[in-house]
Amino acid sequence: MAEQIYCIKCKTKTDTENPKKVTSAKGANMLQGQCKVCNCKKSKLIKREEKEEVKEEAKEEVKKEKKKGRKKEKIISSSDNNE
Ligand SMILES: [Zn+2]
Repeated sequence: MAEQIYCIKCKTKTDTENPKKVTSAKGANMLQGQCKVCNCKKSKLIKREEKEEVKEEAKEEVKKEKKKGRKKEKIISSSDNNE
């Protein structure tokens, strides 16, 4: 089965020679291969649902941290008002 990946040189989706899944330094899943038309290297990102879940978890952590920071500020400013 030939994977169709967009080729920059051909400016269109072309058949791919030796397609293989690779993981980039950032942890993104990619499909890499060679263009059958011009033999140049090309790759495309593969989206994963697992990754989205991790993103949501990270968001929650940020929210918690923000709340903590606000509370601290309030305590400091209220004690300033008392004096
Ligand atoms: Zn090409």
